[in-house]
Amino acid sequence: MPRFRPILDELPAYRAGKAVVSADGRSFKLSSNESPYDPLPSVVEAIAAAARDVNRYPDPACVALTEALAERFAVPQEHIALGAGSVTVAQELFETVGEPGAEVIYAWRSFEAYPLLADLAGVTSVRVPLEEETHDLSAMAAAITPSTRMIFVCNPNNPTGTVNRAAELTAFLDRVPEDVLVVLDEAYREYVRDADVPDGLSLYADRPNVAVLRTFSKAYGLAGLRVGYLIAHAPVASAVRKTMMPFAINSIAQAAAVASLRAEDELLERVETVVKERARVREALLGQGWEVPPTEANFVWLRLGERTVEFAERCAVDGVAVRPFAAEGARVSIGSPDANDAFLAAAEAFRKE
Ligand SMILES: *Cc1c(COP(=O)(O)O)cnc(C)c1O
Repeated sequence: MPRFRPILDELPAYRAGKAVVSADGRSFKLSSNESPYDPLPSVVEAIAAAARDVNRYPDPACVALTEALAERFAVPQEHIALGAGSVTVAQELFETVGEPGAEVIYAWRSFEAYPLLADLAGVTSVRVPLEEETHDLSAMAAAITPSTRMIFVCNPNNPTGTVNRAAELTAFLDRVPEDVLVVLDEAYREYVRDADVPDGLSLYADRPNVAVLRTFSKAYGLAGLRVGYLIAHAPVASAVRKTMMPFAINSIAQAAAVASLRAEDELLERVETVVKERARVREALLGQGWEVPPTEANFVWLRLGERTVEFAERCAVDGVAVRPFAAEGARVSIGSPDANDAFLAAAEAFRKE
């Protein structure tokens, strides 16, 4: 038997998600915060065109995509680093700071990838409990020690959908030492409508230790192609680029991401529809008597405690897949109107049973 790293014994084995289908054949996937829309024709065209060149390696420097992002966000190209999905960019970040004894702070519960990536990188996770389903930024600042290397702030938070606003974020950033990297994970930025939630790009501009993490997986609908990016000052972005696996972002993904930026107006119209559906779903749930934290993302959070798994099973009967976190709660993505209706019917049935 080969000797593996002991940490592997503590990591969960990969479980394949199983499709949920009702007795009458209905199936709605509201478990992964994906876009409910098919890719735009212009994006499919770019994908098809790129497919004709797959005998060639992709551009390892992702020049066209880097230029397009720099132009879109009016930042220098040296401020951009890419990865195969923002989870991979996060992994690259852990590679840049990870060494034995290093501590990484994040809220809990938050994005499931953080503890996994921390364990894989061999760094120590410092989890700071949510306060009213929201990042407790003053407790997070108080958790900083001389060993702290990086802090993740997931805004809006996955899975609760809650946000931290400008005043508390700036106060927090002012307390973080310059040699600690703060990563603002803005995977759901495009869904934010609360004007008091700052765009991370305005916070990073005059702070060399702040990085903004974004993805093409959610609002831009490219989850299956895996493209994420980081915007940070040159020393941070260049450190991250050093840890990137050569050719990590394939040529089809690069072409699709560039085409998506070109079609941004159309994609953001779809986001607007999801935002309207989000309001409808939350209102309906409140009307049914649920407590639902205000959400700025494309999902809602129900703190169900010990009834979480039972709730997910009830939704599955109606063909609705949700994301249960046993003994804590369920995260339910906003999908197409008929998927949302199916979910609302299941939620109402559960309350009445
Ligand atoms: C979905 C999500 C991501 C994006 O993951 P990709 O690897 O880009 O698909 C990143 N951060 C958070 C908090 C997410 O929920």
